[in-house]
Amino acid sequence: MSNRETPKECVLSGMRPTGRLHLGHYSVLENWIALCEHYEAYFFTADWHAITTQFDDTDDICENKKQVVIDWLSAGLDPAACHIFNQSEIKEHAEMHLLFSMITPLSWLERVPTYKGQVEQFRVQGKDITTYGFLGYPLLQAADILMYLPYGVPVGEDQDAHIEFARELARRFNHLYKVKLFPEPKGLFAKVKTLPGLDGRKMSKSYDNYISLSADEAEVKRRVWQMVTDPARIRKNDPGHPDICTVYAFHGIYNDQMQQPICMACQKGEIGCGECKLKLTDKLNEFLAPIRARRAALEQHPQELDDILREGNRAARLQAISTMEQMREAMKL
Ligand code: SF4
Repeated sequence: MSNRETPKECVLSGMRPTGRLHLGHYSVLENWIALCEHYEAYFFTADWHAITTQFDDTDDICENKKQVVIDWLSAGLDPAACHIFNQSEIKEHAEMHLLFSMITPLSWLERVPTYKGQVEQFRVQGKDITTYGFLGYPLLQAADILMYLPYGVPVGEDQDAHIEFARELARRFNHLYKVKLFPEPKGLFAKVKTLPGLDGRKMSKSYDNYISLSADEAEVKRRVWQMVTDPARIRKNDPGHPDICTVYAFHGIYNDQMQQPICMACQKGEIGCGECKLKLTDKLNEFLAPIRARRAALEQHPQELDDILREGNRAARLQAISTMEQMREAMKL
């Protein structure tokens, strides 16, 4: 019997470096951590994607890349179990993007559902993003994915259109050059919990309704205090409606065992919203304490972060060089 291990199938995912992550990102990271057990996993900061819309404001991108990776590691992503790299360090992504651009009909890019919506969204904010780079965004994303010949890509179900674009491109390339180089990656849909923001809408930086993974105790207290509760409750003994309360939704995630007693106490008017918020603040601080501790340790040893990225970039580059050799050969370049 052979002792050689079968190579693991690969998965990859990335995030735009938009600064520190918040609680809403945590369940995505939990999913990444779980995938590392079964797959060869690559995770990258997508800095070239950031400049498709942020081309006029690049001052913070380098720092944001660092902060995003610190958040990943602080949340428990083990660099020994995956490859963490920066997109722009792997120049092969740009070459693949260019070669794919030669075989991609313009209509494929123009019909991407999010394209027109985002152009309009930025236009309303007074910004024109109708650039060549932004139109080609899904193509760059397909190159990021197909470079690692992955089995799957962990995404939210709403993002399957992006994976479908990569699958279409893989089929077109394989057909045109009569090869079986590129797989058709699956969307790996995790049960990602959608966390409400402080105001009850989806937690998002653009709504300023988030709690950072790196928030200190005072900041957590301040943010919980801003949470929207049942607006009909004026006095402590008014019967409440926890089902419409953001604080209650958070108790369900971070204080699961107490959710039921809090529900009953609220409905009977036996607990005030202030007390309820303090209980949640304690639970959130308990949850964030080990994340903060890991962040503090990483900040004290910046060399460790550099080493992790150097090793991740090296591993990603090896795979990228191999894929590009095969791609050029298929195209007889
Ligand atoms: S007591 Fe708690 S669950 Fe009830 S409305 Fe106030 S904050 Fe919400």
